[in-house]
Order: sequence, then C-alpha cells, then structure tokens
Amino acid sequence: MNTRSGGQPSAVPEAILNSGEVVLPPRISRVNGCSLPLHCFQVVTWAVFVGLSSATFGIFIPLLPHTWKYITYVVTGGIFSFHLVIHLIASCIDPADSNVKLTKDYSQPVPIFDRAKHAHVIQKQFCHLCNVTV
Ligand SMILES: [Zn+2]
Repeated sequence: MNTRSGGQPSAVPEAILNSGEVVLPPRISRVNGCSLPLHCFQVVTWAVFVGLSSATFGIFIPLLPHTWKYITYVVTGGIFSFHLVIHLIASCIDPADSNVKLTKDYSQPVPIFDRAKHAHVIQKQFCHLCNVTV
C-alpha cells in the first residue's frame, strides 16, 4: 500500500516521478483537450504543428523549383489540413465512457479513491470513482 509522509494511506490517484516527487492530478476533471489547465503536451503539440507548418510553407516549399512548388503545396497542404482536422476532433471530444458522461458532473472535484477498499479504480467493469458500470 502507498503511504504518504504522515503514514496516511494514499487516497487520490497519483504518479511518482523518478526524483520521488509525488504528482497529484488536477482536482477538477478535464472534459477534453481544450479544458484548462492545459497540460504541457497540449501546448507542445500545437506549437510543433504551427512551427512545422510555418517552416514547410514559409521556407522549404518556396525554395523548391517552380514546377515542384505547386505540386508540393497541394500535397503537403492536404496532409497538413487532414492532420489539423483530426487534431481538432481529437482535442474536442470527451473520451469518457458513455455511462460516465450521463452521470458525471464535471464541475465537481475528482472523487477520492480509497486504496484500502479497492485494489484498482476499475474492477469487473465497475468504476469505483464514478460509481458506474463502464
Ligand atoms: Zn470513472
């Protein structure tokens, strides 16, 4: 069983870094990839997309020979547009199970999980945090 410095049983989901530092999740659940507070990966993915788009369309393609330039604009533009649409869809959907979506109130803090009562959050297709069958 995980224990904190005070010897109390650990009651909330957590991750332990290599340095031994305990990282707690935000108290309010994220609904989708647009929910605040943003995770650093959310910022990095958009920054990489904007950076690669700028470099590709602003620097690399204009340096190509005239005949290749327009073909590359069309092919690369299609690929980047497809990626943008998929990225927006993936960021805006709520990945929660349909039973959780029906019952969960996202404005409430994340429920506390008691490791003394249950070994895992989800056992036999029942979520002990949401109290629903998933
Ligand atoms: Zn749940």
